[in-house]
Amino acid sequence: MTRAFAPATYPGLAGRAVLNTGGARGIGYAMARAFARHGAYLMLMDRDADALAGAAATLRADFPDARIAVHAGSVTEEADVAAACDACAESFGSLDILLTNAGISMNRPSLDLSPADWRRAIDVNLTGTFLCAQAAARHMKAQGGGVILNTASMWGLSASANRAAYCASKAGVISLTEVLADEWAAHGIRVNAICPGYIRTALTDELIADGKLDLAAIEARTPQGRMGTPEEVAEMAVYLASDAAVFITGHAHLADGGFRARG
Ligand code: NDP
Repeated sequence: MTRAFAPATYPGLAGRAVLNTGGARGIGYAMARAFARHGAYLMLMDRDADALAGAAATLRADFPDARIAVHAGSVTEEADVAAACDACAESFGSLDILLTNAGISMNRPSLDLSPADWRRAIDVNLTGTFLCAQAAARHMKAQGGGVILNTASMWGLSASANRAAYCASKAGVISLTEVLADEWAAHGIRVNAICPGYIRTALTDELIADGKLDLAAIEARTPQGRMGTPEEVAEMAVYLASDAAVFITGHAHLADGGFRARG
């Protein structure tokens, strides 16, 4: 029998200040909802101010007691990243948890991949993650600890034709996660990577509509026979950020319905 998704409650998240990049939609927005449900404070960062305002309004309506603020900017800009971290600390008194969800896809045959496209994927997915982690960790070190969850991808662990820049950027995020977990354990900071498989969001809907992803082929290839939901990925994030996971650091955690296991 297929069991239905059932979210749980984890300890140590109420009143913690979360900076969530890419938080206006998709997996980032689902994480925002999961952390709001746990009573965490949320600073959402994304590029589009209108999308951020819409996400915050829905969250406030659904979680009337939640404390939610937004900061528009790009994770590729050091000044935007520093300002978002400072805004989180000023609004909520700390920056306890960083969720790096901002990311872009890049599907092109490698022979057609322009240097500009290569650099854009690396810049947003890898350099953006590093800039956010570094800026957040400066706050966390001063506070005596924190948690960083980098949203990578199962394509950071496996090869996928026509996704050279995306795979390399996400493999880089996983390597970065391991290095930072090692370096920053001494500061009480845990760093983990979350590796979603195929998840139904605006990003994948667009790829399906453009014919760059074949929904039927994905469903046939996935042992569980379906794409995942953003909520199923968000559940892993609340667990990993919580005090239930205090000994877990430096790893890449898959949520892929068994996709990678099939090889
Ligand atoms: P979405 O496109 O739905 O959401 C990503 C969000 O990040 C968007 O709001 C986007 O804004 C924002 N963003 C993009 N670039 C920047 C930037 N430079 N600065 C700030 N915000 C930015 O994607 P998903 O929710 O599907 O993906 C979230 C993360 O999960 C990504 O890192 C993705 O690679 C990863 N992932 C997703 C999978 C999936 O199947 N969906 C599978 C594996 C990993 P805008 O709308 O303006 O572009």
